Amino acid sequence: MSLQGYFDYNATTPVCSEAINAFVSAAKSFANPSSNYGLVKPVGNLLAEAREHVCRLIGCAIDELFFTSGGTESNNWALKGAFLHELSASPGKPAHIIVSALEHSSILEVVNYLERAFGCEVSRLDPDREGVISVESVRAALRPNTRIVSVMLANNEVGSIQPISDIARLTRSRNIHFHVDGVQAVGKIRVDVGMLGMDTLSFSGHKFYGPKGCGGLYVRRGVKLEPLMHGGGQERGYRGGTEAVAMIFAMGAAAKLADEQLDQNLQRFATYTHLLRQQLVQKIPSIIFNGPQNLSMQVPNTVSICVPGIRAEALAAILDNLNGIQVSLGSACSNNKTMSLSHVLVSMGLSDEEVKSTLRVSVGLYTQEADIHFFTDAVANAVSILNRISKPVSEDHVLTT
Ligand code: PLP
Repeated sequence: MSLQGYFDYNATTPVCSEAINAFVSAAKSFANPSSNYGLVKPVGNLLAEAREHVCRLIGCAIDELFFTSGGTESNNWALKGAFLHELSASPGKPAHIIVSALEHSSILEVVNYLERAFGCEVSRLDPDREGVISVESVRAALRPNTRIVSVMLANNEVGSIQPISDIARLTRSRNIHFHVDGVQAVGKIRVDVGMLGMDTLSFSGHKFYGPKGCGGLYVRRGVKLEPLMHGGGQERGYRGGTEAVAMIFAMGAAAKLADEQLDQNLQRFATYTHLLRQQLVQKIPSIIFNGPQNLSMQVPNTVSICVPGIRAEALAAILDNLNGIQVSLGSACSNNKTMSLSHVLVSMGLSDEEVKSTLRVSVGLYTQEADIHFFTDAVANAVSILNRISKPVSEDHVLTT
């Protein structure tokens, strides 16, 4: 399969051959890791090896890592687990949660649920125009009963990187649980949980060339969480369910590769997205880039583009049908396929028109320099087609009578 037209690496990444090979070899070791006979030893070794690779990738200790089914489960666990622990420690006191409006639905909808089901108070913080949550806005939202703060490390739509270590210093000084959704950061930028200082961090294997349905949660030593999945006693009693051994081993292989190649990938992606921006500006002078203007505050593989006056849906459809290019709409598409405006772009203060004209472009491991030229030519061509279509008839057909 050609990946020349694939510009949606933030949605998911192709599984790398290292992970596929690891999956195939591990799938042959079929014993249940919880059994007690000798057949289990190789399976235990596979899990241990994968754990080591993932721990190295995010800089945590072996006993701080828990495997899960992915980012959604990890986010659910961190927030519900911290909330339920707090509830059992201080029953009857309403908790206050601070959450950024930039978050993925697996954070926002959990917070909505906790508000609805348990009556907790919620503050939703808007980012600035560049998609960044300031530590001052978190500080200003604090209340005596604030128990949880949740801010993502890197945003999935505009790639803005948040000031996590500053927020962590603040929450630590107030003994508040700080959860960070790291799904769009782990494997893409250097993540060191010790330096960043959060209490919990979620990640997902399919965002760094591992399989889908596999991820994990870092839980800082000493931090207390109620389990989400009860039963079975796996993951030291904190995440019941027979381990997905082959998937975990495959994710471990992908984590090893991501760790080893991170610096060179960062460099390469930054070069490609720089070229992409440069060429788009030349070919479409009216183009606008959403997100941080200081590119060191943006994940280097992500570019959010807005072509004023052009509907992103139409642009994406032409790119897909004419050029076999896949990009993501800035506006999210829910399961029932009804379109709604991207809550991320709206929270950043973009107008409805700007949101409707925004596309997310993300490059990855299999992107080549030639693909950038192919992409920018195709976008320029699609924009000129759409401009021609939308021109009033009288401008196109001037009658010379
Ligand atoms: N958090 C963010 C920021 C994401 O982008 C995603 C997936 O796109 C998730 C969480 C959910 O992760 P998963 O697909 O592993 O459930």
